[in-house]
Amino acid sequence: MSHLLIRGWRKVAAATVLLAAAVAITSGSIASNGAETYDLTIANGRVMDPESGLDAIRNIGIRGGKIAAISSSALEGNQSIDAKGLVVAPGFIDLHEHGQEPRNYQFQAHDGVTTSLELEAGTADVDQWYARREGKSLINFGVSVGHIPVRMKVMKDAGAFLPVGDAAHRQATPAELQLIDDDIEKGLGRGALAVGMGINYTAAATHDEIVDVFGLAAKYGASVHVHLRHAGLQEPTTGLVGIEEVIAAAAATGAPLHVVHITSMGLKNTPRLIAMVKGARERGLDATTECYPYTAGSTQLESAIFDPGWQDRQGITFKDIQWTKTGERLTAESFEKYRREGGTVVIFSIPEEATRTAVADPTVMIASDGMPLSGAKIHPRGQATFSRVLGHYVREEKALDLMTALRKMTLMPAQRLEKRAPMFKDKGRIRVGADADITVFDADRIIDKATYEEPLRYSEGIQFVLVNGVTVVKDGQLVDGIFPGRAARAPISQ
Ligand SMILES: [Zn+2]
Repeated sequence: MSHLLIRGWRKVAAATVLLAAAVAITSGSIASNGAETYDLTIANGRVMDPESGLDAIRNIGIRGGKIAAISSSALEGNQSIDAKGLVVAPGFIDLHEHGQEPRNYQFQAHDGVTTSLELEAGTADVDQWYARREGKSLINFGVSVGHIPVRMKVMKDAGAFLPVGDAAHRQATPAELQLIDDDIEKGLGRGALAVGMGINYTAAATHDEIVDVFGLAAKYGASVHVHLRHAGLQEPTTGLVGIEEVIAAAAATGAPLHVVHITSMGLKNTPRLIAMVKGARERGLDATTECYPYTAGSTQLESAIFDPGWQDRQGITFKDIQWTKTGERLTAESFEKYRREGGTVVIFSIPEEATRTAVADPTVMIASDGMPLSGAKIHPRGQATFSRVLGHYVREEKALDLMTALRKMTLMPAQRLEKRAPMFKDKGRIRVGADADITVFDADRIIDKATYEEPLRYSEGIQFVLVNGVTVVKDGQLVDGIFPGRAARAPISQ
């Protein structure tokens, strides 16, 4: 540190007083007692770091947006957060969040999320996606190049978020396949974090098409975040059949595989699907999975998932589907009407036992699958997943311990992406040199408040959230008008 200070003072001598002040802020300064002064300190919290296993009372010093010190003795800061009685954890990394607008980021910050990633659906235009959020985001953001939006673009599908026409229901021509592959490769070249796929929504995509996309992901070392082709209970369209397809594609091409929301894919057979991912990994495949802590899924009613036969495939009927604009449960009549209109539904289809098994499993990451705020009765998962795991499943149900839960929402998602995007080596950790993305919460009080009836409620018990060293939640309240979020992106190669 000392030579930095000397360099700072030389600049002071040669420059204006104004510049001297700027240097003091970015490179630190010396307090009257000779100790270093940090931009911000987090004092006396229970620091929990899943990578090192540290679980002890510590003081953290932050400088220039990074963790600069972790100490058992007191640190001097220009600002200080009193974290006595609170847990100080790495900020949560959400691998799967479709809600990527400013209002979504406010809910996510209140739920402890510091990095919000749209890796399942993704985008067809990586540059534009990042440009829209640069300098305007409360929390960090990132995206995959998505097979779904690319297929919709190439096949001129009229769907808004998911395909409703040719991209869902027609095989691509050789010329279209070439365009699809070109766009996916272009997105990877522009620093997409991963490749997104939702084969269930592009049901007419052939196995050849899928394997080719896995091949492109492998070429760029990108994980494929895939919603399986099948999520049903009846042969030959079970979740198990769906997972066999992608494990084979990953094994044959070398692409890392990440199966999204395993509970809504496996339903009552979720333990079998988790075992498939584990077995693949134990035999050398880079395969991982994730879940959200709810017994309902959510998607678009106009999508291919509700093509004829959906009741038998999914083991549900009209009354299990909730229309998010009004909260009403569907009938045969309203199903037809709203399917023509198009819009988001909540689907009550996942057994609690499956949810609990996945949430408690130390190998299954936590990811919200949060949805855009498209109706008054949307799914609560995008607003409350992380506090629900920590409050309901850790504290109330004792389904898993706190450190294991934190690992599933910090270190593991960072590790999933860090080979492709090395910036993730400095996320998901409380370590000197890591990004100061930090979530400070009361383990006795943290709880989800968003419900199916009242989904737009902030979680409680998350007291402070820092994004790149900037406080975005302070004393449990959002800080307005600041945009410290940065692009989480892989290196741009072309
Ligand atoms: Zn999905």
